[in-house]
Amino acid sequence: MITDQDKKDRTELLAPGLYLVATPIGNLEDITLRALRVLRSVDKIACEDTRQTQKLLNHYDIRTPTVSYHMHNEAGRATELAVQLKAGARIAIVSDAGTPGIADPGGQIAAAAIAAGVPVFPVPGANAAISALIASGLAGESFTFHGFLPAKEGQRRTALEALRTRGIESQGSLIFYEAPHRILDTLSDVESIFGSAQHVVVAREITKLHEEFLRGAVSEIRTKLAGRTTVRGEIVLLFAPAAVESTTENRAVSIAKEVRELMKKESLTEKDALKLVARARGIGKSEAYRELQRERSK
Ligand code: SAM
Repeated sequence: MITDQDKKDRTELLAPGLYLVATPIGNLEDITLRALRVLRSVDKIACEDTRQTQKLLNHYDIRTPTVSYHMHNEAGRATELAVQLKAGARIAIVSDAGTPGIADPGGQIAAAAIAAGVPVFPVPGANAAISALIASGLAGESFTFHGFLPAKEGQRRTALEALRTRGIESQGSLIFYEAPHRILDTLSDVESIFGSAQHVVVAREITKLHEEFLRGAVSEIRTKLAGRTTVRGEIVLLFAPAAVESTTENRAVSIAKEVRELMKKESLTEKDALKLVARARGIGKSEAYRELQRERSK
């Protein structure tokens, strides 16, 4: 029930526009005072899942009407909401958890509002990637967020290999969201592409009862998780691989070194090691072989 006082508060306190409101990623206390005021004062809340958001609204006794806004109706709903925003509405967008627009719906309505000349207000708060990073022990000065890796193994490996060759120095710590049923496969791919000693952090169930941070060599972490009956919960994976040399000359030199190291570490034949190095660098096997020969002939 919206009272006259509620309506008065809205008009006096909240400017018309679109509010992108972050909500908790587990612990219901992780919501800002401003987020609660905005959710209480807007005309409507567009939610990724109205039932999920209703639990949060009930907890804080917020009675604002809700409407669905998810990946299947995002484009159509964005146009509809943009018309209402243009007419002076105050609308909040929330996702199921965390910050809208980050691996979640929110981007299209923000773009539509901006195109319609409507103010867009961020209401910052919880986010799984940043929460994982700050407690990971990895450098936070420079990082890149990659959302979810592809579910299919081949595509996932290609994505990881591309990251390896893209010049890790310029990307800082890498942050990924991952599903619990895929984490073991992804860690296997990280191990074969970046080496078994690659330091990784698996942040699980952040801010929840069973919050857990596993830090160590990828091979150890994979073995630890594989030893469990099942891996549950929400996961963020982070790691900061060493830089790969990228000039042609350096590449030729380091190809031989990398092949030698892989042969020793992984007990591979030269042919198999070269195949892996070529894949990781995004070059063909014959190009990798030519570079190897060039170095050896020096
Ligand atoms: N918009 C959200 C945010 O700001 O973090 C992310 C939404 S995305 C659809 C959901 C993914 O975020 C999960 O699959 C998981 O990888 C990660 N995630 C969300 N909550 C988490 C938590 N409490 N602990 C660990 N990872 C979490």
